[in-house]
Amino acid sequence: MRLKQIEISGFKSFAKKATLTFTAPVTSIVGPNGSGKSNVVESFRFVLGEQSMKSMRGKSGSDLIFKGGSNAPKLNRAAVSITFDNTDKVFNFSPDSDKTGAPVLFDEVTFTRELYADGTSRYLMNGTEIRLKQMVELLSSVNIGTSGHHIISQGEADGILRASARDRREMLEDALGLKIYHYRIKESESKLTKATNTLKEVQSLRRELAPHLNFLKKQVEKVEKGRAIREELELLSLQYLATERSFIREEDNRLAQAHSLIASKKSQLEQLLSTLPEETLHDATATERSTISAQLQIVREKRRTTESRISRLEGMVEAQRQMLVAQSKQQQFVAKAITFAPQEYRMLLDDVEALMQSIREASTVEMVKGLMGKIESLVSRLKAREQKVPEHQEVPSVVDTGIKDTALELEELERELKAYIGQEEDLQGSLQAAEQARDVSMLANQVSTRKRYEIISDIKQSESELQILEVSKSAFLQRKELFDAELKEAGFLFGVGFVQQLNNAQSIPEFDLHTQKRNIDRLKIRLDEHAGIGNEVVSEYESTVERDTFLAREVTDIESGVRNLETLIIDLKRVLDEQFTSGIKVINERFSDFFKTMFGGGSAFLSITLEKKRRRKNADEELALEGEELEEQEDEFERGIEVHVNLPEKKVKELNMLSGGERSLVSIALLFAISQVNPPPFLVLDETDAALDEANSRRYGDMIELLAEYSQLIVVTHNRETMSRASVLYGVTLGTDGGSKLLSIKFDEAVKVAK
Ligand code: ATP
Repeated sequence: MRLKQIEISGFKSFAKKATLTFTAPVTSIVGPNGSGKSNVVESFRFVLGEQSMKSMRGKSGSDLIFKGGSNAPKLNRAAVSITFDNTDKVFNFSPDSDKTGAPVLFDEVTFTRELYADGTSRYLMNGTEIRLKQMVELLSSVNIGTSGHHIISQGEADGILRASARDRREMLEDALGLKIYHYRIKESESKLTKATNTLKEVQSLRRELAPHLNFLKKQVEKVEKGRAIREELELLSLQYLATERSFIREEDNRLAQAHSLIASKKSQLEQLLSTLPEETLHDATATERSTISAQLQIVREKRRTTESRISRLEGMVEAQRQMLVAQSKQQQFVAKAITFAPQEYRMLLDDVEALMQSIREASTVEMVKGLMGKIESLVSRLKAREQKVPEHQEVPSVVDTGIKDTALELEELERELKAYIGQEEDLQGSLQAAEQARDVSMLANQVSTRKRYEIISDIKQSESELQILEVSKSAFLQRKELFDAELKEAGFLFGVGFVQQLNNAQSIPEFDLHTQKRNIDRLKIRLDEHAGIGNEVVSEYESTVERDTFLAREVTDIESGVRNLETLIIDLKRVLDEQFTSGIKVINERFSDFFKTMFGGGSAFLSITLEKKRRRKNADEELALEGEELEEQEDEFERGIEVHVNLPEKKVKELNMLSGGERSLVSIALLFAISQVNPPPFLVLDETDAALDEANSRRYGDMIELLAEYSQLIVVTHNRETMSRASVLYGVTLGTDGGSKLLSIKFDEAVKVAK
């Protein structure tokens, strides 16, 4: 016994709580018209999640809540609870299972549906709210589907015959427990749609990402290239700067040493020079010599003047003598004068003039003395001539007096001349002595001067070397300055550790330095070309690659998911198809049997047809809504079910040509056949037997007993025969307050109540 009880509260005519306990295979509900029997049947539909108001004879939710009676107030809430035995753990779901990770298995499962005046519904399982869908899935596991084929309402007995081929198929699928496949197919299709959309989105994201990724890749390649250039540059710079540094250190020492060496040499030379006597540039005899020379000049001038005067006076003496001769001729008393033949006189005169000239040109005292001797002999010769003249013949005259004066003057001059010649000789001697003194002094200076010149030359050499050194130093300082700048730049470029690395860096040969420097400069230019891209590009690239890889993985996963879903859908459809076909086969066997039993012969069967597929417009809703429009799909087909009957001894085969009773019998035979395949825990039949005559009522009663072996039966009936087959009877009456009441009654009471 799976169905245990149903509890109705505030639902339709049941204002007060009413509980029906199902302890027998067949429970019958009886009561007068309008007492609320069908409301009990509808309470089954309601609690099992029925969404169609029509099938519960209402227009809105409020129609399902007790509206109030003569003495009973209107209610705001309707609640129906249905309880199943679950000791076999068919219901293995718990709303908490998601949280705990394991299903909670109850021995008893109670589903409750609450409806409020505002139309909202709530579903609970053992007091915990669950979703309608979850409840529907759980119920389908015990073959209680949503199509309600196990609840046959009043007047709905032939509903299965009136239904369309598609609806019939749905009812059969539901009865066969195949609805779950439809849910799964639908769920998988919806997942597939979502997965396909997600796939498109992810692929689109990847496509959008691709150019950016490409750009970043190029940037990163540039950064990596820059990094490689930088590493090469660092290595070359290390070698270059290490070499430069050792050169600078060596050169600094070399220059310092060279400078100190040359400077000390120069200083020594200067010291040595200071110990040597200075060159006697001053000639001590110069003044003396110049004084003597000046005096000599004066004396010579005076001598020349005297000589000239002597010469003139001698001429005058000659002239006066001639005048004297002439006078004596005139006067008788002219004494015999000194006479000279003209040639003799001329020769004498020439001698005197020549002597005078020689004296003037004489350069030595000796020469002058010699000449003076000649003059004296000439004078002696003249004096000798003078003595031959008789004194008594001499006539004193003016001319004679003049000659005497002139002669005296001449003598005087000759004495002066002699003195001058003497002075000149003396001065000449003094000059020679001064010049000798100067020569001796100069000779003495010559040796030390040479030495000085040598030292000075060496000092000059040192100075020149120092100057050259200065030039080298200036070039060196420039190079050092450049080195410092390059080192600073390298430190800035490669970090503080760079300078420490210099100690371990390998030096390169001096002759490679220039090439190395050129390479460094080239690398710097290339590094500049790769500069400006920060390291954040690398991390952005990495995160973008990561994202792209993630998306690529997503694509792969989704594609595999899509393939799995497609396979799943195909498999589900195949299983559905197989099970449906085999189910129909089984139903057909039962249907044929029941049909023959009901009609005492004939035959009936179901056939599978192909119908144009209809699809719900609002496919997102969990369950089909009442009156929801369905669209036919042009190209897609779905299966339908047609009912074929062959009544015994009748040719009529069309269902719509059957009588009401016949339709009821066919329907009952079919419903019973259906319920035999996967028997639901219970079957509710609301006056399904209404149209049957006595004979058929018996057959109906027999079948009820047969069915009761598989499912609990709740039959609402006015039929005595049917009532007789029930073990438990509930009577429904209408209370004075206008609400329905339930009471357990005996068969006899039931017969009475039913009337
Ligand atoms: P019959 O034997 O004629 O089929 P029944 O016993 O099946 O009758 P129901 O159809 O179940 O009777 O009950 C109908 C009664 O329930 C009506 O009297 C109706 O007024 C009452 N009813 C229906 N809905 C409500 C409601 N929301 N509030 C109060 N009473 C209601």
